[in-house]
Amino acid sequence: MKIKRKGIMAFLVAGMILLAVFLRKEQTEMRMISYSDFWEMAANGEIAAVTVNDLPEWEIRLQNGEWAKTPNPRSQDVKERLLSLDIHVVEEKTAQGNAFFMLLGVLGLGAVLLRSRKSGAMGLEKYAAIKAEEKIPDVTFSDIAVPKDTLESMQDLVSFLREPGRFSRCGARIPKGVILYGPPGTGKTLLAKALAGEARCPFFAMSGADFVQVYVGVGASRVRELFRKARKAGGGVIFIDEIDAIGKKRDNGNDEREQTLNALLTEMSGFSGSDGILVLAATNRLDTLDGALLREGRFDRRIEVGLPDYEDRLKILRVHSRKKPLDAGVSLEELAYKTTLFSGAQLDTLLNEAAIRAARRKGESISPEDMEKAYCSMVAGEERKRNMTEEEKRITSFHEAGHALITRLLLPDARLMRITVIPSSRGAAGYSMSVQKDKMLHTRKELICMMAAVLGGRAAEEMIFGPENVTTGASGDLKKAREMAHCMVKDWAMGESEEEIIREGMQRAKECLKEHEEKFRLLAEELIKKDTLTEEEIKRILEKSEKNLLL
Ligand code: ATP
Repeated sequence: MKIKRKGIMAFLVAGMILLAVFLRKEQTEMRMISYSDFWEMAANGEIAAVTVNDLPEWEIRLQNGEWAKTPNPRSQDVKERLLSLDIHVVEEKTAQGNAFFMLLGVLGLGAVLLRSRKSGAMGLEKYAAIKAEEKIPDVTFSDIAVPKDTLESMQDLVSFLREPGRFSRCGARIPKGVILYGPPGTGKTLLAKALAGEARCPFFAMSGADFVQVYVGVGASRVRELFRKARKAGGGVIFIDEIDAIGKKRDNGNDEREQTLNALLTEMSGFSGSDGILVLAATNRLDTLDGALLREGRFDRRIEVGLPDYEDRLKILRVHSRKKPLDAGVSLEELAYKTTLFSGAQLDTLLNEAAIRAARRKGESISPEDMEKAYCSMVAGEERKRNMTEEEKRITSFHEAGHALITRLLLPDARLMRITVIPSSRGAAGYSMSVQKDKMLHTRKELICMMAAVLGGRAAEEMIFGPENVTTGASGDLKKAREMAHCMVKDWAMGESEEEIIREGMQRAKECLKEHEEKFRLLAEELIKKDTLTEEEIKRILEKSEKNLLL
């Protein structure tokens, strides 16, 4: 017995020595680069490769062979931006291939073995100790911008938490579990926190991924521990982010996930709503969740947290600009208008990017130019200083003028904001930016006009330079057109075949450009001269050409 115990101790000590050596190596060799410097270096071609994983910091290899680190931005389109800058991206599953985590695993296993000798039953209950936040949050509904219907549903939940007795006396069944679902960054976590803040009760938050562990049984222990804590505190909001990590439809393939899910279901059947505990879970994919989770008495309430509309975007922008000095010329209304399909998190990032630009130029407040540049870089990528031949510039100018003119003429509800032939970090040679009105329904006719606008670049190239000379510049547009045509045929029954719809869109684009050839050429020539045309300039050019036609 003693020999075995000594063996485990030796195993742990060896692991710790190795770990110490590894950590020293990390500390002495890696310098930390701020996130803004990182992008500056990336744009200057100083970065060779980036290791992308779930860790708080990413490792970077510089062109001079040096290694450095930068904070993990946890943003979805970083990989695309890196690839478009020709930076090698190494994707790494955090737990694999990383010596640090392998060592932690070794130490963890040793610790479990030691514990198990002491307390039997593998000692998993203690091993599963969790660090859930458990304070009363200081954020309330007034600190966040909540859409009206979501707010109504959430206010109901506040009443359940504050006065459970009022409902149970009338025989009403108080909900135990609520699923918040919607796209990433729409404020689900923030809402759950604000609910606890509003109800003045503690908030216990964990992510589904924290429950999914290497050792079978640890996740289930963590679930039990979480509920125990909430009971001990006399109730509160338990929030499980990314519930899909444990609550996906069962496939008989993962013992650990199965046990964790069962533990969650058992805990949820074990308390009544009047205990003052409410479990909120968040997911981006409601359709992937196991039916057992959504049954009566479990997560039987669902609240959709969708992308904000114009009014909600304006509210979110107001909330996040409270502590940001804005020049008088910055219009939040204008910004809310042109940020259709932005999530709350993206709006927050947009204001932050603008503030960084203001600070970088040593300004005291955010100017309309800072805001415009931040907006363009989020929508289309950073401008990239790259040489274009005269011929490339000419082709790109006609291509973009084609998109722009068709948008202007066939989509009267859309606002044409900007056309440019300055290449972007996302690999585009130029772009034309327009903003569509928020709309619930689209007719087939409108969709064909949209398709014509998407294909306007290729139609323009074909018309000016001939079918033999069309370029690869339309690849992104063609992909978009194919996706649209697919939805039109498969989801909306608006045609027999995808190719036919694409052909119809192309035909419409060509007719439009032919019919308004003078305007089209004028717009393209101005773009060749100026590189970028703003909304006002586009309007002026088109009005001038209309006057010419009347003379
Ligand atoms: P995910 O699905 O990716 O976990 P989420 O829906 O939980 O995202 P949050 O983490 O709550 O989103 O939001 C991220 C950030 O976005 C917040 O910290 C906040 O800055 C901003 N945000 C999102 N929605 C709102 C909102 N309605 N009001 C104010 N800020 C918001």
